[in-house]
Amino acid sequence: MDVFGLLGNPVGHSLSPPMHEAAYDELGMDARYVTFEPAPDDLGAAIDGARALGVAGLNVTIPFKEAALPHVEADDLAARIGAVNTIDFPDGDAADDAPTGHNTDAAGVRRSFAHHDVTLAERDAVVVGAGGAARAAAFALADAGAAVHVANRTVERAERLVADVGRETPDVSERVTSGGLDSLGTRVSDADVVINATSVGMEEDRSPVPSDALHADLAVLDAVYRPLDTRLLRDARERGATTIDGAWMLLYQGVEAFERWTGRDAPVDAMNEALRARL
Ligand code: NAP
Repeated sequence: MDVFGLLGNPVGHSLSPPMHEAAYDELGMDARYVTFEPAPDDLGAAIDGARALGVAGLNVTIPFKEAALPHVEADDLAARIGAVNTIDFPDGDAADDAPTGHNTDAAGVRRSFAHHDVTLAERDAVVVGAGGAARAAAFALADAGAAVHVANRTVERAERLVADVGRETPDVSERVTSGGLDSLGTRVSDADVVINATSVGMEEDRSPVPSDALHADLAVLDAVYRPLDTRLLRDARERGATTIDGAWMLLYQGVEAFERWTGRDAPVDAMNEALRARL
C-alpha cells in the first residue's frame, strides 16, 4: 500500500484526505492519505521520519509551508515563492537523493483559469492580498505572462511581494506593481482578471472589491472556499463576470500534487465531486 500524507497544525478539518482518496478509489489504487500534526520544532524530524517509513509523498500546510524549505531540494518556483506545499521522495536509483519541494498552489491558480478557458498571457491582473495565497497567485500570473498589480491593506507587504516576483527577471519586474486598497476600484475597472487572496469574505459576508468596479469582461477567482459562494463572487456574477470559486484552486493544487507523486493523470472529476460534497 502507498501512503501519502499532510503535515500541518491543525489539520483536523482538511479536505485533502477525501479528495485524494477519491482519486485512489477511482483509479483502483491501493493507497491511503493520512494527516500528521508535528510540533513546530519537529518538522525536519517528521519529514525524515516519513521518508524512513516509506511515505510516498507529503503535502505541507500552515504553519509549515515556509519552514519546510530548508528540509527539501526546492524547485525553482517553490524557491522563488518561498514556500513548499508538496514534497516528493525520490525512489529507485535516486532513493538517496534529498526530498524535492514544490509549490502546487501556483499551479492551482493557473489550472483554475485554464479550466474556465481564461487566458492569462498579456492580460491585466489584480491580486488582492499579499499573504501566502497571494504569493502563489502573483507568481502564477506573472509566470503566465500577465501584468500583475498586487493591492494589499499593508502596502509594504505588497511592495515586498512585487519585488520578489520581479527579482532577477527584468522583463517581469516591468509588469508588476503594488499599492494599497484605496486605488483598488480603479485597478479592477481596468483589469481582465482579479484574484481575492485575502481572508475577507470568510467570517463576514463582505467583499474586498468595490462592487461597482466589477464588469462583464472580468474573470474573478476567490481563493476563499468557506463559504464557497462569497459576496465577491455574487457581486461579480451580477455584473456578468466569469466567476471561479476557491474550491477550484484547492482542487487543482491537489491534482498537481497527485500527478507529481504518481506520474498519472488525476481523475479530476472524482476529486472535484469528493471535495464539493464536503463544502
Ligand atoms: P495570510 O497569509 O494570513 O494572508 C491574509 C491576507 O488577507 C493578507 O494580505 C491580509 O492583509 C489580508 N487581510 C486580512 N484581513 C483583512 C481585512 N479585514 N481587510 C483587508 N485585507 C485583509 O492568509 P493566506 O494563507 O494567504 O489565505 C488567504 C485566504 O486564501 C484564506 O481565505 C484562505 O483560506 C485562502 N486560501 C485558499 C486556498 C485555495 O486553495 N483555495 C489556498 C490558500 C489559501 P495584511 O497583509 O494587511 O494583513
